[in-house]
Amino acid sequence: MLRDKVALVTGASRGIGRQIALTFAGYGASVIVNYNGSKERAQEVVEMITAMGGKAVAVQADVASAEDVGRLFEEAHTAFGRIDILVNNAGITRDNLILKMSEEEFDTVLDTNLKGAFLCMKHAAKIMLRQKGGRIINISSISGIAGNAGQANYCAAKAGLIGLTKSLAKELGSRGITVNAVAPGLIETDMTQKLPEQVKEGMLAQIPLKRAGSVKDIAEAAAFLASDRAAYITGQTLQVNGGMA
Ligand code: NAP
Repeated sequence: MLRDKVALVTGASRGIGRQIALTFAGYGASVIVNYNGSKERAQEVVEMITAMGGKAVAVQADVASAEDVGRLFEEAHTAFGRIDILVNNAGITRDNLILKMSEEEFDTVLDTNLKGAFLCMKHAAKIMLRQKGGRIINISSISGIAGNAGQANYCAAKAGLIGLTKSLAKELGSRGITVNAVAPGLIETDMTQKLPEQVKEGMLAQIPLKRAGSVKDIAEAAAFLASDRAAYITGQTLQVNGGMA
């Protein structure tokens, strides 16, 4: 499904990004595995892809830093000579109620989850415009659609990502580049591990499919949007949440 494609996945050392990297490689893509702090975990992903007979490189870069993102795309381009797919997956939470939320908590989440995607899209768009085609997939969240108490910073960033997605779809569509978002619901990863049990139970009660999602549920949706099968889909947000919203 992704044979001969080159994919750059941000935040691919753990969780959803890690599974997207593995799934894309399984479908034939070469993968740039971006990470920030988890060097060994990222190297593990590269080794798993190599063991499958695929190609991958790990590149450290903080997506919130314009300098790091510039280097990430240089190293990615040097490694494989092209970039067909960008998945903006890197994300963090700094939850707090608005009265307690610090400016630093707000800025850090916006810088990583929203500005990081903007910086990556700028570089990817330049390469994809030259290549006359490409796929950009932004990992948003149900929180960006429905809002969530205690997550004003995160929800603002994730809603912002949907706006970026729609705008870039309009800017880049005429050049064969599609831009879509995936909005996961409750997915079992390190990020949701930290949620209090009571909060998780409350969320589970709202899911018609009666289970949390797996990283594979999200990776398969992203793979579809990255493939030729989704050639006529752009500017959309695909909700993968077990029917939660
Ligand atoms: P996770 O398990 O905490 O993993 C986060 C990944 O992002 C890690 O690989 C981490 O890399 C990377 N990352 C964080 N800050 C970064 C930075 N500044 N630069 C580069 N990479 C960075 O999270 P997850 O649950 O897989 O979430 C992945 C994405 O899905 C996020 O955008 C999240 O908001 C979204 N999402 C998750 C859920 C859910 O229920 N889990 C629901 C909706 C949306 P290092 O460890 O190397 O720093």
